[in-house]
Amino acid sequence: MCSYDFQPIGIIHSCYREKFGIPRQPGLVTAASATLELYAPYDCPEALAELQGFSHVWVVFVFHQALRDGWKPTVRPPRLGGNQRVGVFASRSPFRPNPIGLSAVVLEDIQCRNGHCQLKLQGGDFLDGTPVLDIKPYLPYADALPDALGGFAAQSPESGMTVVFGELATAQCAMWERAQYPNLRQLIEQVLQADPRPAYRIGREDKQLFGMRLYDIDVKWIVRGNQIEVTALLPQKMEDKVR
Ligand code: SAM
Repeated sequence: MCSYDFQPIGIIHSCYREKFGIPRQPGLVTAASATLELYAPYDCPEALAELQGFSHVWVVFVFHQALRDGWKPTVRPPRLGGNQRVGVFASRSPFRPNPIGLSAVVLEDIQCRNGHCQLKLQGGDFLDGTPVLDIKPYLPYADALPDALGGFAAQSPESGMTVVFGELATAQCAMWERAQYPNLRQLIEQVLQADPRPAYRIGREDKQLFGMRLYDIDVKWIVRGNQIEVTALLPQKMEDKVR
């Protein structure tokens, strides 16, 4: 059986600095932007000629933080509560024989400077540092299949959670937005509305203080019934940065 050797053509720089909190699929957090930095020699303008005519692109990437020796024929999708098993090929799990991801995202902009190009993407589900294997234009006539059946994943996952900011977090968020991340509040609200907790904790009273890293900010939050309260937005500790 042949094996193939693929080289990344680029890398994703995204707001998601850890896996916890990343949406399950693209398009669920529209406030998330990412940059796809192309490596030379793939970053030449000629290789992207006419791509600007497409509103969306498919990004083929490596689940580089899900590399494991071997694979299992079944997985436990979070949306089924983390107990029920389905075939790995009936899932979009990162843990698969070839850890390859596929996401259709908004192509916001193509930026070329001194002959080197990068893409601005919106709504991705990529961990920061994700290696990219390929980019393809999204072809609505071929890729949009409104009559397709979605099996056990027919609907977008709805958590029913509302997100509020405590007084301190409100002030801190306004400061971060002024300084660096203009749509930070919207990003946090959209990420937390999906309730990123592990499936077995959802629907239960939860006394835990949760932390999630977006950009270089540690977002602290608690759960009260069907409400998530953001309690603080702390700068990432220096020791974590150098790790
Ligand atoms: N849309 C893609 C697909 O269908 O192939 C990815 C779906 S997968 C369920 C999305 C999850 O993959 C994210 O919530 C995150 O936990 C994980 N993920 C994203 N980038 C990753 C990476 N570079 N390495 C490992 N896991 C990653």
